[in-house]
Amino acid sequence: MAQISGNPEPVDAAIVPRFGAIPTFMRLPHIPDPARVDIALIGVPWDGGTTNRAGARHGPREIRNMSSFMRKVHHVSRIAPYKLARIADLGDAPVNPIDLGDSLARIERFFKQVHEAGAVPLSAGGDHLITLPILRAIARERPVGLIHFDAHSDTNDRYFGNNPYTHGTPFRRAVEEGLLDPKRTVQIGIRGSIYSPEDMDFAESSGMRVIYMEEFCRLGEEKVIAEARRVVGQGPAYVSFDVDGLDPVFAPGTGTPEIGGLTTREAQHIVRGLQGLDLVGGDVVEVSPPFDPSGNTALVGASFMFEIMCLLAEAVARRKGGH
Ligand code: MN
Ligand code: MN
Repeated sequence: MAQISGNPEPVDAAIVPRFGAIPTFMRLPHIPDPARVDIALIGVPWDGGTTNRAGARHGPREIRNMSSFMRKVHHVSRIAPYKLARIADLGDAPVNPIDLGDSLARIERFFKQVHEAGAVPLSAGGDHLITLPILRAIARERPVGLIHFDAHSDTNDRYFGNNPYTHGTPFRRAVEEGLLDPKRTVQIGIRGSIYSPEDMDFAESSGMRVIYMEEFCRLGEEKVIAEARRVVGQGPAYVSFDVDGLDPVFAPGTGTPEIGGLTTREAQHIVRGLQGLDLVGGDVVEVSPPFDPSGNTALVGASFMFEIMCLLAEAVARRKGGH
């Protein structure tokens, strides 16, 4: 792959120490113009879709802070993302903390500009409802596939009467709106008590491949990777990483924890196994710093942003190279 010179680079830690300077994602420059980047790192500080414990609105700021631990090269794949692509911190999407509908509209408009400028978004939430306006912005032309890490399927229908939008509904809405191809969707790590025996009917009958935590343990990581790759195939795909897919031992700072989840090492292995897919965007959501004063959940979030960013950089470079 051709190396591009003059790309944005993180602040050199040998010149400004990691604890210094203004915290941007990965210590990259803040470049608000999406036309100047291939991959836009974006915060979406909004948790208006949260039904129980709020706090994910504070995710982007803490993930930015903890992302100062990330260095420049992936130690396994040896992907050097900043050599492969122009990557910068675009800032935060605009939100309205007291109006759900207005927030969805604002987020969609922002991501539409990013998409039309030709940049691939990698976002830090925010709760999982933010993925819906992002998909509305980037998947209108054709439905995308999805690799979805989560304890929850997020395919519920209505809440508190007839409300269609919560962080438990984004992927049902995305299928209904033709943004998401359920047959190219794989959900990994699903578990926990459900409201009724029919809760998983939509995901399963629409054709989503649901890998419950129990099956994950039975199959093992390599077979889960192979299955995810088979389901998603060669078409465009999005990665959505809900930090509650991890066991709360590893990521306690989240609104809806479920025991018996993925370890950080298992999830790292699965994400790395997605290299080579035609990825067109991603997000890390549901990091809720108020529930984790240690800061570790934000570090986990930053680390998975780095993992996904490496995959995106490789995909961007592959598309630019025309193969
Ligand atoms: Mn979720
Ligand atoms: Mn979840």
